[in-house]
Amino acid sequence: MDLQTDITYLKGIGPQRAQLLQKELGIATVGDLLEHFPTSFLDRSQVYKIADLRGAEMPMIQIRGRFIAASMQGEGAKTRLVTMFTDGTGVIEVVWFRNAASIRKSLNPDITYVLFGKPTYYNNHWQLVHPELDTEASAEKRIGLRGVYPLTEGLRNRGVTSRRLHEWMLTALDSKINIPETLPAEIVRTNGLISRADALRAIHRPANMVEAERARHRLKFEELFYLQLNIIRYGRNRKSALKGHVFSKIGHFFNTFYAQFLPFELTGAQKRVIREIRSDMNTGRQMNRLLQGDVGSGKTLVALLTMLIAIDNGTQTCLMAPTEILATQHFESISQMAGVLGLNIKLLTGSTPKRQRDEIHAQLLDGSLNILIGTHAVIEDNVRFARLGYVVIDEQHRFGVAQRARLWQKAELAPHVLVMTATPIPRTLAMTVYGDLDVSIIDELPPGRKPVTTVLRYDTQRQQIYNALHRQLLAGRQAYIVYPLIDENPKLELRDLQTGFDNITHLFSDFKVAMVHGRMKPADKERQMQLFVSGQARILVATTVIEVGVNVPNASVMIIENAERFGLSQLHQLRGRVGRGADQSYCILMSRPELGRDSRHRLQVMTSTTDGFILAEEDMKLRGPGDIEGTAQSGLHIDLKIASLVSDTPILEQARAAAERLLDADPRLDSYPTLRLTLSRLFDRTMDWARIS
Ligand code: ADP
Ligand code: MG
Repeated sequence: MDLQTDITYLKGIGPQRAQLLQKELGIATVGDLLEHFPTSFLDRSQVYKIADLRGAEMPMIQIRGRFIAASMQGEGAKTRLVTMFTDGTGVIEVVWFRNAASIRKSLNPDITYVLFGKPTYYNNHWQLVHPELDTEASAEKRIGLRGVYPLTEGLRNRGVTSRRLHEWMLTALDSKINIPETLPAEIVRTNGLISRADALRAIHRPANMVEAERARHRLKFEELFYLQLNIIRYGRNRKSALKGHVFSKIGHFFNTFYAQFLPFELTGAQKRVIREIRSDMNTGRQMNRLLQGDVGSGKTLVALLTMLIAIDNGTQTCLMAPTEILATQHFESISQMAGVLGLNIKLLTGSTPKRQRDEIHAQLLDGSLNILIGTHAVIEDNVRFARLGYVVIDEQHRFGVAQRARLWQKAELAPHVLVMTATPIPRTLAMTVYGDLDVSIIDELPPGRKPVTTVLRYDTQRQQIYNALHRQLLAGRQAYIVYPLIDENPKLELRDLQTGFDNITHLFSDFKVAMVHGRMKPADKERQMQLFVSGQARILVATTVIEVGVNVPNASVMIIENAERFGLSQLHQLRGRVGRGADQSYCILMSRPELGRDSRHRLQVMTSTTDGFILAEEDMKLRGPGDIEGTAQSGLHIDLKIASLVSDTPILEQARAAAERLLDADPRLDSYPTLRLTLSRLFDRTMDWARIS
């Protein structure tokens, strides 16, 4: 028997069970079955003493003893078997509701039994309901650890239990099954791993926790190793395959701007990142680089300077932003900074009038347009460039992969691509989702920035908050007040926002208050935003539409209402709107006093750090990697069977290093047919998202 054998060959699994397993868990072969891993283990190596039961609830435990009394109680459908069981140290009540009569008949007061179950303290005595029941002899076979297997509702309904699954695992393992090694011998050896055969045996039938852990380690390593091998190989292949524009010179525009019009001294991190991008653009291969930099770290200036390099080398460039407001703001700040250079810079969004749009199209085609800034509008079919050399995508998680692909198709020679993100991505996730991209990190804020002071406050403290806000307004500052989006109920959301707005307008009648929300007409939104950006309005009451990009350095206060409703990364993005100038800024998280554990933890983390990477890690711990912004749309479906991107960072790093070393030595895996085979089995269906990033 081998791993490809159909599961119907296993004793106890007929065609109906097989169909059920296929439907519920996608298990068709013995190999599939053995890769259905337990999530935890029940310990049947220890026998517990009844006298040692403590607390109100115990884990699953095993006790050994005899039945000293048994009686049927209740009537009709409610009939149950109530028994007394002793191990000599105490007595426990054991109850059966199902099959009560037949169990009663089978119980023998002269035999020693082993019970396995979860005792609860009930009505002043310990009770065990529906334990597993074995005679001492048959319990011998169950000694040791037993896996607890994930089940579906469908399986449960059809009577398939974790114990049943475990029995099938043992049947499979006991049937002379051939389990080949899938990792190269030197990797098994140098990483201190056990063989795949040993691991599959031990994960389902470990002698003790140490063995179970070793098996788990090996299987996690294997899973992460293949993930990394695949992504690194893919990235390397693409790099060697895809030709790119060669930007060999630093010319007039870059030099002039750098020497005469640079608005600030660049930070060390900005300089380093520009150098990294520059050297990528000169290799003859297409650049695919991810630029991570916290909110306010100065990514726009990096984008501009590197775009000037592209223009110096005779190509056009494009900057894409996720929202109209953000695109407009980019357009304004880039025009303001680079306008003096005499470049042709244009903005293209959904609301660009037809005549201007036609003009832009024409200028793109005749090559006279240097920098196109815009929203999704720039990837519409009728937008064509004469020579697109470089594309910058801001806040990429808002763009789907397919959308990026369309931009890609606009050029004969692939443009260099820089994806900028202010959503820090935990390292493990970056290695996986963006494992084939090169990553640059701006890990330094411009000088003079003070970290935003963040506090958690409750409704009872509202008056103090407003007093403090008033002082800031008197000192000339501006403030944001943010209300959560309530997706399920837009009416409620608007009402909250409107009430908040009326209240604030009333309380701060000396100051102009603006308001924006997602359901406004774009023109109205634009007008309200403009009031705030220009400084006429001193307070902006808003929903999360201000989350991305808005840059008002004079704003020093952000009050977030119902902060417990926001996720960590969202709170972090919001907070990034303040602390952009030289003044001390404040972020006040308003919340209900009674909070769930996760919400409280989230808000406490927010008050304790402003480091986006720490927050991203915490966010991933709280929500799991699947929900982290950016992964859902990354096109990569990470469906891990046993490893965790949250808690297995060390193994991931180890596996990645092993994969890199292997590919260094043998880039095409010529001497590893098994690896190639396994890779194509695992990943053939999922690829092709990376080349278009
Ligand atoms: P983000 O990385 O969030 O896109 P921005 O590019 O909007 O950040 O920059 C945030 C603010 O910092 C802007 O007001 C920008 O003008 C300013 N800034 C950028 N680089 C520097 C620098 N080297 N020194 C001082 N201020 C800078
Ligand atoms: Mg930005």
